Amino acid sequence: MPSIDAVIVAAGSGARLGYTIPKAFVDLCGKPLFMHSCEKFDTYKLIGSIVLVVPAEKTNEAIEIISKGNFTKKVRVVAGGKERWQSVQNGVEASPGPWVLIHDAARPFVSHAVIDSVLEKQANYDCVITVTPEVDTIRHFVNDRALTTLDRSSVVRVGTPQLFKTSLLKEAFLKALSLNPPPTDEAMLMEACGIPVGIAWGDPLNFKITTKSDLTLAEALCALNGVR
Ligand code: C5P
Repeated sequence: MPSIDAVIVAAGSGARLGYTIPKAFVDLCGKPLFMHSCEKFDTYKLIGSIVLVVPAEKTNEAIEIISKGNFTKKVRVVAGGKERWQSVQNGVEASPGPWVLIHDAARPFVSHAVIDSVLEKQANYDCVITVTPEVDTIRHFVNDRALTTLDRSSVVRVGTPQLFKTSLLKEAFLKALSLNPPPTDEAMLMEACGIPVGIAWGDPLNFKITTKSDLTLAEALCALNGVR
C-alpha cells in the first residue's frame, strides 16, 4: 500500500502572470496548468492519493475537470487559503498517509526522476526539499545600489516537490502565524521547529511559471516534447 500522498497547491492568484483567472487554471498545451502535475503524480508508483488545492470559488470547476481526467488514483479537491502555507495545511488535512509530497501546480514539468531523487533521501530526513544550483552572481541591494555579493557555490534555488512526515508538518503549522513575513515554503516551518531539512538535486526544467515569458518557454517545451 503506497504511503505517500501528493498535495498539489494551485490556489494562488498568479497576479504576476497578468491573467484574470488563477494561474493554475491557465491553459498550457490544451489543459489547465494544474493537470500536468496531477497526471505526473498519478502515474508515479508510490503515490497513494492526490489532493488538489484550488481557490474556493474554483472548487466545483476543478472537480469537474478532474472527473473528466483519466486518473487511476483518488483525487480530492479542497479549497486553499490566503497564504500558501494555509493552502498546504488544507491539503495536508485531507491527506490520509504518513508522508506527503507538496508540489506547486505552477511547476508543470516535474518528472518521475525528480520525485525519485527526493525519495532517495526519505530514509535520512523527515523533510526533503528539491534544489537546483544557482548559476548567476547573487547580490544584496538597496534601492539602486548594489551591496555585497554572495558566494553562489554555497546557495541553492529551492523548488518542489518537497517531502514531509505528515505528523511533523501538522505540528509545524502551529509556528506559521508567528513568522513575519509568512513562509514561502513549509520547509521553513520545519526549520523553525528545529527539524533538519535535507536537499535533493532537482532539474532546472522543473521551473516555476511566474511571468508571461515563463509561460512562453513552457509552451515551447510542451511543443518540443509533443505534449498536446
Ligand atoms: O505564488 P507562487 O507562484 O510562489 O506560488 C507557488 C504555488 O503555491 C502555486 O502553485 C500557487 O498556486 C500556490 N499557492 C497556493 N495558495 C496560495 C498561494 C500560492 O496554493 N495562497
